[in-house]
Amino acid sequence: MTQEDQPVREIRINPVVPGESVLIATARGMRPKKAEDPPPRDDRSCVETCPFCRGNEHMTPPDISSHTDADGWKIRIVENLYPVLGDDRDGQGLSLGLQQTIDGYGRHEVIIDHDNHGIALHDMSSSHIALLFDAYRQRMQQLYEADRRLRYVLVFKNYGPAAGGSIPHTHSQLIATPVIPEHVHREVQDSLAFYTRHGRCIFCALIDEALTFEATIYDRASGEVKRRIDVGQYVVERGERFIAIKPFASRYEWELHILPLAHEADFLNATREDMADFARVLRRTMARLDAVLGGVQYNYFLHSLPHDPGCDRCGDSYHWHLEVCPRTSIPTGFELGSGFFVNTVSPEDAARRLREAVID
Ligand SMILES: [Zn+2]
Ligand SMILES: [Zn+2]
Ligand SMILES: [Zn+2]
Repeated sequence: MTQEDQPVREIRINPVVPGESVLIATARGMRPKKAEDPPPRDDRSCVETCPFCRGNEHMTPPDISSHTDADGWKIRIVENLYPVLGDDRDGQGLSLGLQQTIDGYGRHEVIIDHDNHGIALHDMSSSHIALLFDAYRQRMQQLYEADRRLRYVLVFKNYGPAAGGSIPHTHSQLIATPVIPEHVHREVQDSLAFYTRHGRCIFCALIDEALTFEATIYDRASGEVKRRIDVGQYVVERGERFIAIKPFASRYEWELHILPLAHEADFLNATREDMADFARVLRRTMARLDAVLGGVQYNYFLHSLPHDPGCDRCGDSYHWHLEVCPRTSIPTGFELGSGFFVNTVSPEDAARRLREAVID
């Protein structure tokens, strides 16, 4: 029996957010998965009705901004027609005893990623992906500058119906809120706690560990060495400035994080050279996922330093990153009821398969 055939069953603690645990249970990988057709690629059948296709610009709100070349627009940012948050409302949030609300104020915008309706991310050119992420960066900057009340702009992408994508034309979204979203807040606070104890950024520490190829796991009770693991095995893709890592405590079977190798908390500080290398690493990472999974449906989202994070040292302790979460299983009552994530593919095995995938 080879190592990857042996079922893994263990609880792993997320090193960045220790309150979050993942149950790695590979024997459960035998469960049938819900079959989902991947989104159609290069499907032109609905170009007449697609609000995001070229020629149908009248079907969306007007451009907030756009990137164009001689052939027309390449990327457009427009208001979301069905925003989850709206314009300023009068008055404060309602308070109904224990049921509290906060104001639903914020922005919800759509970024039309490409003029090609069905193009997958890994089929876009690296220069286009760099342009796309620079469009995110510029818009985030504008929003923070225009409204000091906004504390966070979350950029995300839902690709495919299994990931909640409702319009097949490739697009991403941003939601700007006057509060820091809970997941970001926990990462920022927990990485600050690590920084306070150890004097360094936990993300930098994890990257260093991955690049030195060894980590030691200690028994919590006795403090004795339980085993040594090859941490380099979690590196899936490496560029000059960015790295794609399969997290040790991955919540999702094929989850990957892309981080700058040099410490930087704020995505807004990414330079043109950073964007170019990031785009190459992301494109190759998505190509690996596609090669292994064959038509991957996923969410990705950007985690960066909040605007006014509430601490002076957060710029030293936090480290921006993109989380890519392919959706290959559906959370069950156990996950929803317990808060545990259940991952049925061992992260070591997933990383190896992704690394060995043959891509252009
Ligand atoms: Zn379209
Ligand atoms: Zn760092
Ligand atoms: Zn994160």
